[in-house]
Amino acid sequence: MSKMETSGYLDYIKNQPKTDIHNHALSSCRFQFLKQNGVNLPSDYKMDGIASLIDFSRKYLTPLENEVSTLTLLLKGNFLNCIETGIKVVCPSIDYKVCLRTFNGDVQSFISFLQQFQYDNLKILWDLSISRDSFKAEHRPLFIDLLHTNFFAGIDLASTENIQPNSTFVEFYQIANGMNMLTKVHAGEMLGADYVKQCILDFNPQQIQHGISIVKDKDVVKLARERNIVFNVCPTSNVCLGYAKSIKSHPIRQMVESGLNVTLSTDDLLFFGSDINEEYNKLYTNGTLTFDQLEKIRKFGLEIFK
Ligand SMILES: [Zn+2]
Repeated sequence: MSKMETSGYLDYIKNQPKTDIHNHALSSCRFQFLKQNGVNLPSDYKMDGIASLIDFSRKYLTPLENEVSTLTLLLKGNFLNCIETGIKVVCPSIDYKVCLRTFNGDVQSFISFLQQFQYDNLKILWDLSISRDSFKAEHRPLFIDLLHTNFFAGIDLASTENIQPNSTFVEFYQIANGMNMLTKVHAGEMLGADYVKQCILDFNPQQIQHGISIVKDKDVVKLARERNIVFNVCPTSNVCLGYAKSIKSHPIRQMVESGLNVTLSTDDLLFFGSDINEEYNKLYTNGTLTFDQLEKIRKFGLEIFK
């Protein structure tokens, strides 16, 4: 099948197996799911950039994360949505500070809590994440202890790009690469291709979260191709936060056409309201990518975890 009526694509993609490799664990359930379970978040909050997203998280999500019952709800909502939308492999990224705040820094309690989330038909590969905005040097021993549990499949560095120098985090990537973990870093979402290059050289990551500004520099594209780096791209997130003008003109097209390895992901379903099938469908119906290009992306994601 190479062509399809626009109206039929969503039905098609819903039934296909797929991955969500760039998924923030605690902001990836549906708004409606929380509401049905008695948690009401403000629905009129203006999400117009990373600063507003961080502000929303601090005000409304952190209190939910601090209680085991609501923390459980956030994760359950995420995984149920994954199952409903045909995701077979999800890499939920969870900040190490949840261990600190909700489990008093007790590594074993934190891991035991995460281990309870198991579902038939959904492979959960946890990423241990750091927010550049809130990382403190005093947390270093805890983070290293968490890395050494062997529980986490990957490591991720998120939030405001370059707000702390890369040198603060290089050690963690050396450890994670040495342990053959999936090393990921958020880069090229808000900053340019120079920063993508800097992250590739500093962290030697296997994957980059977003990375969309890379298309502005052919040399950095070449570097990423040589290193076989995978880009986990989330178009709706980029448009909502103002890092891409529209779905139609989204840089994912240039990324694919320049031969980069790309997967499609959701980032934060709770904030952006677009599930994985909607991400595929928007790119198809806007003509950003063809049916065949989207199939290649979908199958490539699954291939990574075979
Ligand atoms: Zn992200």
